[in-house]
Amino acid sequence: MKRLEDFAGDINKCSKCGLCQSVCPVYKQTGNDCAVSRGKFVMLDGVLKGDLKLSRTINKYLDLCLKCGKCKEFCPSNIDVCRIFETAKYEYSKKHFNLFWLLESRYLFDNFLKISSLVQKLFGRNAFRKSGCIKLLYFRGCVNKVYPKVENALKKILSFYDVQLIEKDFACCGLPFLSCGNLERFEEVKKRNLQLLTDDYDYIITDCASCEDTLKTYMPEDKIINAADFVAKFPKKFIFKNPVTVTFHKPCHLKNIDFLSLILDMCENVNYIEMKDYEECCGFAGEFALKNPKISRAIGREKARNIIATGADYVLSLCPSCTLGLHQGFAANSNFRHPKVKNIIEFLALAEKII
Ligand code: SF4
Ligand code: SF4
Repeated sequence: MKRLEDFAGDINKCSKCGLCQSVCPVYKQTGNDCAVSRGKFVMLDGVLKGDLKLSRTINKYLDLCLKCGKCKEFCPSNIDVCRIFETAKYEYSKKHFNLFWLLESRYLFDNFLKISSLVQKLFGRNAFRKSGCIKLLYFRGCVNKVYPKVENALKKILSFYDVQLIEKDFACCGLPFLSCGNLERFEEVKKRNLQLLTDDYDYIITDCASCEDTLKTYMPEDKIINAADFVAKFPKKFIFKNPVTVTFHKPCHLKNIDFLSLILDMCENVNYIEMKDYEECCGFAGEFALKNPKISRAIGREKARNIIATGADYVLSLCPSCTLGLHQGFAANSNFRHPKVKNIIEFLALAEKII
């Protein structure tokens, strides 16, 4: 496991150009230089030089980050900001009590998911029994274990394909632990997930952009596919009974949306309206919304206004955390009629005919 001092070179690569300020959603809301990577690097540089302590205040500033990676995309020095913040948080949390680490403990987190999963099985998760030619290993993700709406939609769509869906008891992808700096727990779930991998599959499929992004850091990258990319790669026709309009919010962890135009071309009776700033973060980002509720709501409110302005019937996405963020934004604009929020897979499963 890397230590903060191992990143000294990367931290020093920051030229203080300030380009990250122009893209950071938290900086846009707060105007606080400590919210953006440049300010955080100044503090961490002070820690490494021994001029500053890795204090509660610095940890609070580290929490003031959505881990959206927008600053990394724009950074001329290509600094992997999130890895550095996670490591700094890990070093701080090793010496201080962290409630989130307690909630993420194997005992509480895993048992909660196990119980939820059992309850869902009792109330009927869609069965999937086909032995097709494309072998898909399903990475269910934590949200589907608790509330399998998207899982059921995916299974419905896959029933129109010649596929075999292999279900294994994967743990969480690990993103919540990374965000919290709980690197030991991350290593634990990573090890468990890797142990469950066999050679007998063509793709590992997930319906969550955050799971996809995290799995790609430790599983065979070319084998991981999100459900929307899968549909785009293996086209079908989705015929909707009545005309509907949709818009799309791009989750920060989704690397590209090449699938979108391909999928829209496969849909009959669906009209797309692009929202302003469709790539802007929804402001949720799991623990960020819990630790910084005001800023999270303010970012969500702006996002929701851009969505409402389209007048679309549905806003589509590919991430359960974004689904919560979009609902949070709509709640902050409660005077306006807003579109229904759906994972794109859930939306496609609404089609009257799939051929
Ligand atoms: S864009 Fe990169 S190099 Fe420029 S200030 Fe931000 S972190 Fe530093
Ligand atoms: S990861 Fe996102 S929220 Fe965090 S500093 Fe970079 S741009 Fe800002």
